[in-house]
Amino acid sequence: MRLCRYDDNRLGVVRDGQVFDVTAALELLPAVRWPLPPGDLLIANLAKLKPEIERLARGNRSKSVTEVKFLSPVANPSKIVAAPVNYQKHIDESRLDKGISFGQDIKTIDYYGVFLKSSSALVGAGEGVALRFTDRRNDHEAELGVVIGKTANNVPRAKAMEYVAGYSIALDMTVRGTEDRSLRKSLDTYAVLGPWLVTSDEIPNPGNLEFSIKVNDELRQHANTRDLIFDIAKLIEYSSSFYTLHPGDIIMTGTPEGVGPVKAGDVMHVEFEGIGKMDVAVRNA
Ligand code: MN
Repeated sequence: MRLCRYDDNRLGVVRDGQVFDVTAALELLPAVRWPLPPGDLLIANLAKLKPEIERLARGNRSKSVTEVKFLSPVANPSKIVAAPVNYQKHIDESRLDKGISFGQDIKTIDYYGVFLKSSSALVGAGEGVALRFTDRRNDHEAELGVVIGKTANNVPRAKAMEYVAGYSIALDMTVRGTEDRSLRKSLDTYAVLGPWLVTSDEIPNPGNLEFSIKVNDELRQHANTRDLIFDIAKLIEYSSSFYTLHPGDIIMTGTPEGVGPVKAGDVMHVEFEGIGKMDVAVRNA
């Protein structure tokens, strides 16, 4: 199932280039009061809502995917976990390019571990990226986004994939500079997730997905998730050994070689095997 949030917070199922409106299924969500349970209420209750979502998706109230504004398929993640330098060729290019490293020694993910991006940075494909600090390099990083489906704490590798709700295309937008990664990658709109969530049952082998990003007509990154250094199971095992992952938490799994700058007026076209493609416009904030 391909699930999206679009326009004015409608819930949709994407099929054959159409978005079917299944917003009415949200009526089945539990009524909650302060303090809200951590995580995303829809992702936490997805199994419960699924039959109703599928029933409504058989209706004929639909719009073309080209006519809707895609928001992030996850509305309320408690956090966005991200993997630094998780492809060898990106480590290599980071060591060679001072515009990426800023004179800092580039080590490995074993050394750094994972970092957090602010959840306030999150947008969907239709919202675009609004650049700040335009005197500095603002880079695209195309990545596989993993959405956690249920509360995960100290999850062993062998069980890790059971905790995945699904996958989306992710852009870990980055201002280059000397500051900590969590700061340079947490600006508003610098975490793009979309265009929809593909549930994990539709992607049996997320560790072998080809993907690419073009900026306008120029191919920048083209890689396969089989080259991840920390694979998805390891990222879940590792991050959940430090903190609890809640339903809807997002893991941005790391970017391959070919990162590069974008400027206002550019459009990023990201394509992912098994997920689809999303176009993300760039503007100045
Ligand atoms: Mn990244």
